[in-house]
Amino acid sequence: MKVLVPVKRVIDYNVKIRVKPDGSGVETQNVKMSMNPFDEISIEEAVRMKEKGVAEEVIAVSMGPQQCQETLRTALAMGADRGIHVKTDDVLEPLAVAKMLKAIAEKEQPQMIIVGKQAIDDDCNQTGQMTAALLGWSQATFASVIELGEGTAKVTREIDGGLETVDIKLPAVVTSDLRLNEPRYASLPNIMKAKKKPIEEMDPASLGVDTTPRVKTLKVSEPPKRQGGVKVESVQELVSKLVNEAKVI
Ligand code: AMP
Repeated sequence: MKVLVPVKRVIDYNVKIRVKPDGSGVETQNVKMSMNPFDEISIEEAVRMKEKGVAEEVIAVSMGPQQCQETLRTALAMGADRGIHVKTDDVLEPLAVAKMLKAIAEKEQPQMIIVGKQAIDDDCNQTGQMTAALLGWSQATFASVIELGEGTAKVTREIDGGLETVDIKLPAVVTSDLRLNEPRYASLPNIMKAKKKPIEEMDPASLGVDTTPRVKTLKVSEPPKRQGGVKVESVQELVSKLVNEAKVI
């Protein structure tokens, strides 16, 4: 079976985010970008399926500007077989991404699409669910274990009360949670090999998708600065502050 894995290029999780002075968004110029961490987990899971012999091909898909090819090369170095780059400088909302994933899935016919549970830049947590709905496929979100059966998958989901295990029919969309696995680092020989793996280029129009945004961002602002702490001299002073200033007792 084929496994399709969307990989998004986002600001690296170690970078301290700076809001643009005009409040229109966050600064992305000269900022380190990386693969969305949940997508690394999805690639790892798909590559493990291939190593176990239950998947034949892992296809990574990235949508966005030219630099998304770097993200795709990382996926290829981790073990994906080929890449698809939907090249566009447009702002992509989850619905547009889901529509493009649907078009690609109809062409490629994967049995599973492993989507990150959320992108760490927009925190939308929508793309996987929308893709499953548009395709009319089963979905299992927030997966921490995926066991493949005959035309089915048993997925353990991380939910508020603990863990829930569901059986779903394939084809399906599964969204990966943090505990699904620990992604590997790409080795130097694999980074070299990845340079030769194919990346197909397409654009939203060729997939028949209109990417016009439906949401208008009114303002982006930084969270309020935290007040500095104070050291107290005694337990009495602490209790007095908790009672009179913090009013928590
Ligand atoms: P979101 O719904 O925006 O939180 O994104 C959830 C997941 O959708 C990400 O972890 C990716 O797997 C996928 N995704 C979203 N945007 C893109 C994109 N531009 N290119 C590739 N995958 C994407």
